[in-house]
Amino acid sequence: MSGIEMKRIRHAFGNDMVLDDVSLVSGPGKLTCLLGPSGCGKTTLLRLAAGLENLQQGQIAIQGITVADGASGFSVAPEKRDVGLMFQDYALFPHLNVFENIAFGIEKLNAERRQWIKDSLEQMGLSHHAYSYPHTLSGGQQQRVALLRALAPEPGVLLLDEPFSGLDVTRRAQVREEALTFLKQSGVAVVMVTHDPEEAMFMADHIVIMNEGRVVQAGTPVQTYFHPVNGFVTELFGPVNRCRGVVADEQVKTQLGTFKASGFKNGSEVVVMLRPEAIFISPDGENAPAKGVHCVPGRVSSTHPLGSSSHLHIIVDDGNGGEQTLHVRTPGISLPAVGSSVKVWADKDGAFIFAANE
Ligand code: ATP
Repeated sequence: MSGIEMKRIRHAFGNDMVLDDVSLVSGPGKLTCLLGPSGCGKTTLLRLAAGLENLQQGQIAIQGITVADGASGFSVAPEKRDVGLMFQDYALFPHLNVFENIAFGIEKLNAERRQWIKDSLEQMGLSHHAYSYPHTLSGGQQQRVALLRALAPEPGVLLLDEPFSGLDVTRRAQVREEALTFLKQSGVAVVMVTHDPEEAMFMADHIVIMNEGRVVQAGTPVQTYFHPVNGFVTELFGPVNRCRGVVADEQVKTQLGTFKASGFKNGSEVVVMLRPEAIFISPDGENAPAKGVHCVPGRVSSTHPLGSSSHLHIIVDDGNGGEQTLHVRTPGISLPAVGSSVKVWADKDGAFIFAANE
């Protein structure tokens, strides 16, 4: 297939196995994100794809051609792999201007490629910087130039390692949106490393979630967010509320009500996970829940307006004589007073249930 295919990759540094049977594909025009905590092996996988690290086990094919095979030791040199690279610390050449930086990797700088550089600079809002030197550009502008430099030789595959992590929050959102539009237009197959779940959700067609060198789950952003396979994946996307319970007749009773626990045996200990947006509150007398919904009393311990939504901490009885602080996400900024009483209930469809010992 076109794009990149990595099959059953294993890699060790000394005795430490850092990649254990990892596979991924990214086709033309598709963006695959490697998402996972620090040290889970994302960068090593990208370096193997680029040929910057020797492949020990598995196979890598780019544009349908095998470029590395662990069993035979076959390996195509990095510059012959048809990949573009943009790593976090991949600085621009300081002595070349913007145009020269982008043109650097182009084998034949003909009229068509010159026009491509001009058009791309225009699309990225950088036309007037074509002859500027890198140190005169902002961080966001430098990132855009670095992206164009990686794409200029028209690689079949683009490898990006945390490409936006050096930018501040506002600039990051803008640059990644522009970059995404540009990448989609170019039709290149992209593999991008990030440890930011929001960035992965925003950018990816496919997310490969890794932990300790293994793939834990792979799927679309919707699949990974709404159908996480375990507690690790659920919590990777942000704080969750946990309630424990024991299953009886495919149901589990918790301090926030009774949840369906299909597929679990009687007596199994489970944990019910609820994202902050799956918990609802009603200040006394307002926005009452539908009839029959199980509510518990809560007390507001803190409120944090975030702009388009707010994050609240609500204290409820934990069902064992103690207290539990719940994370609650509400739309808007109309917030109950700290210390006030609220009714609290959970969205039963928003609950994820896993074995407690997982
Ligand atoms: P981060 O998000 O922090 O960049 P990562 O998921 O990209 O992390 P890697 O950089 O691939 O993780 O590292 C995976 C593991 O391999 C880590 O334990 C790291 O310390 C180790 N490692 C990486 N490169 C080397 C090396 N050259 N020699 C020895 N160990 C290494």
